[in-house]
Amino acid sequence: MEREPFYRNGLRFSCTRCSRCCRHQPGYVFLSEQDVEQLCVAKGMSRAEVLDGFCRQVNISGFIRLSLKEKPNYDCVFWERGHCTVYENRPLQCRNYPFWHANLDSQSSWDELQSECPGVNIGRLHSREEIEARLKERRLSPIMEIRGADT
Ligand code: SF4
Repeated sequence: MEREPFYRNGLRFSCTRCSRCCRHQPGYVFLSEQDVEQLCVAKGMSRAEVLDGFCRQVNISGFIRLSLKEKPNYDCVFWERGHCTVYENRPLQCRNYPFWHANLDSQSSWDELQSECPGVNIGRLHSREEIEARLKERRLSPIMEIRGADT
């Protein structure tokens, strides 16, 4: 019998707009095909222009993935004057934060996030159905793996 997830009664999260997840620290915003298409719409640019201007290839455990570029101070490439300039078309990874598979592994993985994100465990209750819909969205729009690094 399948165990009930720890979030069966939902989880609280409300973004305080502290911008910590968009700025100051190195990290990756991995992209799906749909994310790249949405960024083309947001910027009014071709795929080649978006890839060249805002994306980088990174090697993660032997797999090449596409991630957003960062500025020299580690702010996201789309962060300008206090806000996200592609907010309506932002990548799924950003839209679904903090409801990522890795953060929903266990109660402790979720609770540990509080040190990074002050919105975790406060505010609006997100139901189990809502959380599972976010996870499904990720499965249906997977992060692009361009090729194995050794191939
Ligand atoms: S770190 Fe959390 S509270 Fe701060 S902007 Fe990101 S999601 Fe919102």
